[in-house]
Amino acid sequence: MIVDLRSDTVTKPTSGMHQAILAAEVGDDVFGEDPSVKMLEEKSAAILGMEAGIFCPSGTMTNQIGIKVLTQPYQEVICYKGSHIYKYEGGGLAGNSLVSVRLLEGDRGRISVPEIELNINNGQDAHQPISSVVAVENTVVREAGSFYRLDQIQAISGFARSKGLKMHLDGARLFNALTETGDKSTDYGKYFDTISICLSKGLGAPVGSVLVCKKEYESSARRMRKAFGGGMRQAGFLAAAGIYALDHHITRLKEDHVRARVLGKTLATLPWVKSVMPVDTNIVIFTVGDAITPEQVLAKWAEHQIKAIKFGPKEIRLVTHLDFDDRMLEKTIEVFKNFLFNTWMS
Ligand SMILES: *Cc1c(COP(=O)(O)O)cnc(C)c1O
Repeated sequence: MIVDLRSDTVTKPTSGMHQAILAAEVGDDVFGEDPSVKMLEEKSAAILGMEAGIFCPSGTMTNQIGIKVLTQPYQEVICYKGSHIYKYEGGGLAGNSLVSVRLLEGDRGRISVPEIELNINNGQDAHQPISSVVAVENTVVREAGSFYRLDQIQAISGFARSKGLKMHLDGARLFNALTETGDKSTDYGKYFDTISICLSKGLGAPVGSVLVCKKEYESSARRMRKAFGGGMRQAGFLAAAGIYALDHHITRLKEDHVRARVLGKTLATLPWVKSVMPVDTNIVIFTVGDAITPEQVLAKWAEHQIKAIKFGPKEIRLVTHLDFDDRMLEKTIEVFKNFLFNTWMS
């Protein structure tokens, strides 16, 4: 039994999803003729209370297009210092949008109105890039899946708009956040201009993200998708998987959170673990003790076919998902505990 906790992107389609893929009606989406893609785009927009949706191959692309359509070259994006758009998109903001970033500390990745206020350039001083977008990530991957409540989002959005700033949401794991807060997804649209959601993370689709946006950004976003090479032909096979994921895999996310918490609690009892970040959703990040390295831990776990990733000089990350069940959880806990035994006895 292989236990793969490197990311929630490692899942394989379920049999129900396979059937949905096989049954998909398709057409050439670059000609706007794929009914399954259209259905996914409309459904995604409706779920988020937004006007339009654009199906893309990756969440990096939906983020990059979102920022691109909301900015002009030489402007500045305000975001958390560990945010995915800055740290994990290959420098795309610089290359694709020609913008700079203003990085905020945040509270476990959650940025707030006072912090944003201190970092807005007013556009009067020619030395400074003009602030144009506030980009929020929910959940925050770098901070073990911490999440915002809707009232926090509402405050940020109200303030940003009062200053003439646009709002982008990297909602790669937005449904994980909503699972915990109980906020309604349909309330999210009104606080943002563009929102990226991933179908290929906890929702378990093989490929794909959707950029949902206001109608006014739709045509420029479609143009940018083409320019970035993201126009796909009979993409309905992938869209069908995405529709299936939205219909069947949202409510089960709470199981992933429960299992993640069990992993976090178990790790916290081990003497070679220095600290575990609070486990808010499906991501567990912990720091190993001084006498040990993440590589040693990962090598030991690999002997038992448990996979995780190094997430910093002393950090390891585990992510729970649809293909991680209770049997695997039991095995993982056992291996965690045995490793403790070996380390301390040898
Ligand atoms: C995974 C992820 C993305 C998108 O990544 P892709 O691999 O390009 O789909 C964006 N933001 C966050 C926070 C993510 O975790």
